[in-house]
Amino acid sequence: MGESSNPQPLGGNEMPRFGGIATFMRLPGETDPADLDVAVIGVPFDIGTSNRPGARFGPRGIRDESVLLRPYNMATRAAPFDSLRIDDTGDVASSPFDLSSAVEQIEEHFDYLLSNDLITASLGGDHTIVLPILRAMAKKHGPVGLIHVDAHTDINDTMFGAKIAHGTPFRRAVEEGLLDTDRVVQIGVRGTGYAADDFDWSREQGFRVVQVEECWGKSLTPLMSEVREQVDDGPVYLSFDIDGLDPSFAPGTGTPEVGGLTVPQALEIIRGCRGLNLVGVDLVEVAPIYDTSGLTSLTAANLVYEMLCVLPGVSYRD
Ligand code: MN
Ligand code: MN
Repeated sequence: MGESSNPQPLGGNEMPRFGGIATFMRLPGETDPADLDVAVIGVPFDIGTSNRPGARFGPRGIRDESVLLRPYNMATRAAPFDSLRIDDTGDVASSPFDLSSAVEQIEEHFDYLLSNDLITASLGGDHTIVLPILRAMAKKHGPVGLIHVDAHTDINDTMFGAKIAHGTPFRRAVEEGLLDTDRVVQIGVRGTGYAADDFDWSREQGFRVVQVEECWGKSLTPLMSEVREQVDDGPVYLSFDIDGLDPSFAPGTGTPEVGGLTVPQALEIIRGCRGLNLVGVDLVEVAPIYDTSGLTSLTAANLVYEMLCVLPGVSYRD
């Protein structure tokens, strides 16, 4: 591959890595979405959070720690910026006071982005944001498959009486017909519950639920080949809640649960999405104020980069 006219991350020899404006991966941050294949978009929203707040600072934290990322994937040989026009399109302006208004504002913003022929890569924000995103996705693509990595299934009916919060988005998404329920998998779920059958609602909808105990001490590459068969070639959305990882890797989050996935397993999950018809990806629930030395944001930034490396149309230097 020669020089590309696509937007490129700024190299560490052009401007020190700690200098300049902190867009994701130091991309130019000025491309019209009409000219993009992939829009990186921040959603600094956390008023749907049930425990520790702070995911509103997630997009800034992830951008900050993304400054060290280089464009070429040494493991998979992916070179996403060779073939895809990717840029950081900034943040959704949504109300920090009124959840219903914010959810509408997020959906409107994604309607606007998706009026272009592009894939969205969203930096959360708490997991509430996936509901308005899926609403916009379903308007464009019809019901989508879903690969959902999380410590939690996020299928509560209500939380403190509210229908919309960070623990309810996938229940609402099923009710609203946004998901192709036979093409949904939830990976890494665990922890304490309210009832023994807490994960069964998901299974009753047709989801595959992979509890974390099935993942412990194993490569997830074989699981992902089954997942690729399950989700097949229809449109699919990847939603990655950072609390799917063990808190030893990702302490900077609002509702941590022990016994989680490892970073290598997260890489196997994302790399296992290569070849799928991904229409959108997100990385949510990073709350930098509980983080240790930027570790959670750094991990999140790397996982978002890995997501860019498996999007349709990505080129490989092999
Ligand atoms: Mn979640
Ligand atoms: Mn979670």
